[in-house]
Amino acid sequence: MRKFFLPSLCNNCDNPICLTNCPVKATWKREDGIVVVDPHRCIGCKYCMASCPYDVRSINPLKRIVQKCEFCRHRVDAGIEPACVETCLGRARIFGNMLDPKSEIAQLLATLPTQVIKPDLGTFPQVFYIEGDLDAMNPMKGWKGEE
Ligand code: SF4
Ligand code: SF4
Repeated sequence: MRKFFLPSLCNNCDNPICLTNCPVKATWKREDGIVVVDPHRCIGCKYCMASCPYDVRSINPLKRIVQKCEFCRHRVDAGIEPACVETCLGRARIFGNMLDPKSEIAQLLATLPTQVIKPDLGTFPQVFYIEGDLDAMNPMKGWKGEE
């Protein structure tokens, strides 16, 4: 049996299928690529939850609206890194502008083998796993108890 830890967060996909079914346009992609939810527009219908192939959206039980990782957009807008990046003790998370060739993230993507989850779906996830094992990263395979 293999055991591993895999952070599972919204991939802020470049082709985010989750937003196509939102009946009130409460979710959309910003110019910088972050996929966001407007809590004032969301009616909690969960259509986006059913659409997301990564199961990373959840309903806030008190507010009855959908929430997900938005890369801490309030921090990004203030010019600081997402909280998980800043607080990760292992420095395992790197965040930045992939379009800037001088950025650490762009240089890592250019020099190291990386993988995304479910690459065949055409969603173009923007979360990459360095030396990711595609089989191990498939939650359904893990759930079935593969060796
Ligand atoms: S991971 Fe799911 S919720 Fe996040 S952008 Fe992609 S399709 Fe949407
Ligand atoms: S739960 Fe909210 S964000 Fe999701 S599809 Fe419904 S209205 Fe849109």
